[in-house]
Amino acid sequence: KTVVMWFRKDLRLEDNTALLRALTELKDDEQLLCLFQLNPKQFKTGTKNHDYFFSALAHFEQVVKAQGLPLHFMAGEPLASFQALKKAYPDWRKVYLNGDARGQGQVRDEAMASYFRSAGIEFVVTQDSHLHGENSVLKKDGSYYKVFTPYYLQWRQLPKRPAVKLVEFSAKVVAEPDKFRAGQTAFQAVIAEIVHQFEHVGEQQAEARLNEFVMEEMSRYDKRRDIPAIKGTSRLSSYLRTGELSIRKVWQVAAAMPESDGQQTFLKELAWRDFYHMIYSQNPQQKTEELKEHYRQLPWRQDPQLFQRWAEGQTGFPIIDAAMQQLNQTGWMHNRLRMLVASFLTKDLLVDWRLGEAYFAEQLIDYDPASNIGGWQWAASTGTDAVPYFRIFNPTSQSEKFDPEGQFIRRYLPVLKEVPRAWIHAPHLMPQEVQEKVGVVIGKDYPVPMVDHQEARKLVLAFFKQ
Ligand code: FAD
Repeated sequence: KTVVMWFRKDLRLEDNTALLRALTELKDDEQLLCLFQLNPKQFKTGTKNHDYFFSALAHFEQVVKAQGLPLHFMAGEPLASFQALKKAYPDWRKVYLNGDARGQGQVRDEAMASYFRSAGIEFVVTQDSHLHGENSVLKKDGSYYKVFTPYYLQWRQLPKRPAVKLVEFSAKVVAEPDKFRAGQTAFQAVIAEIVHQFEHVGEQQAEARLNEFVMEEMSRYDKRRDIPAIKGTSRLSSYLRTGELSIRKVWQVAAAMPESDGQQTFLKELAWRDFYHMIYSQNPQQKTEELKEHYRQLPWRQDPQLFQRWAEGQTGFPIIDAAMQQLNQTGWMHNRLRMLVASFLTKDLLVDWRLGEAYFAEQLIDYDPASNIGGWQWAASTGTDAVPYFRIFNPTSQSEKFDPEGQFIRRYLPVLKEVPRAWIHAPHLMPQEVQEKVGVVIGKDYPVPMVDHQEARKLVLAFFKQ
């Protein structure tokens, strides 16, 4: 009999809940078939997000093959793929997968569940991606939290499931390349189209980075996490997005360290990830609609020119432009900067947060719809945040505070490299003779600010008061 392990956003062997369960429950007369279903409708070919994921998948395929667990591919609509699989393996009786509780993934899983049921295939879904799943942290009356702090207080108390190591296994596995030739060809075609190269992929790299961060940097995380010029955060987000790293492993390794403010602050960030996951699974309309009902009619601008200048890092505010360069060049952006650029697009330019969310979805290698939508709605003051709309970041004073020497700005905007410290946060104020001396003519080599922040502030306050 055949049992299928359906891999998705869980590209690792260690502490992979569904895989471990499949291997443990496999009977002597059963064989395991490891599968990845490629749905071209989900591809965002040419984007960093897509390229990172498929680089990680290509790496994973090699690793599992070496471990004696060949990964097979099927391409097309999921339903058609699984119907074909059932034809090829009429004795297929069980499928294991780590569930997806939100967005399109949830829609697909529900549709597939009904097919599996009708085809007599047992459907085993496990919660793997989060420390606490979408239904695990509830108020005493069984309802869902709407704000973070009380959620967090409860989240903190709950025991965390330990990470489980994959021990030696002797499962009989399906290794029939001929039956999956078409899927393999489709997979190779996707890999061949990767434009952006990422070297640091894979479970081993992820674990190495986790250990490095926890041992050497975590105790200072609270003091360094807001400074974009240094490596003050874990940079684990892309590994968590693909499942190259187990979130339980992150928790376990970090929580085992001696207590420090850095450690506590870091662990709290992991709660944000679970919180936004719960919020999105409860509010699937949140991708397109403001969570706060009374803000659903706000007349956000759709201006493509304003949006383009923001996306290309041509706003004339160095910290915003350098941040957009970091995103456009590397596919990752520091959290403080995500907050600033999102605030700038929505509060300074009054441009629709949905455009920013969609742009991040393509550019971020760690794109996670729940965290991204949560972050964007937080910045636009339309989400779960209890702070009212008048939290408006001043890009210049934020820049002075978090990049005082302009080190980060100079790294990503080499054109401003020689600008003296006094003007690095607002180069348009540089006197003519200084501009000439450092060879940066404002308006020619670097843009004048596209808005006056104080004026924009007045506008956005009126916008929300409407
Ligand atoms: P660390 O500071 O080391 O944090 C450790 C982990 O905690 C992160 O890897 C992440 O999994 C989690 N985490 C930290 N902060 C948050 C947060 N505010 N919300 C949810 N989880 C958090 N994070 C994503 O993973 N994907 C996204 O698409 C995403 N989009 C965002 C968009 C906006 C507008 C904002 C303001 C934030 C967004 N975040 C997103 C949250 C946060 O910026 C990133 O998780 C973080 O920068 C990743 O870097 P790190 O791994 O070094 O984080």
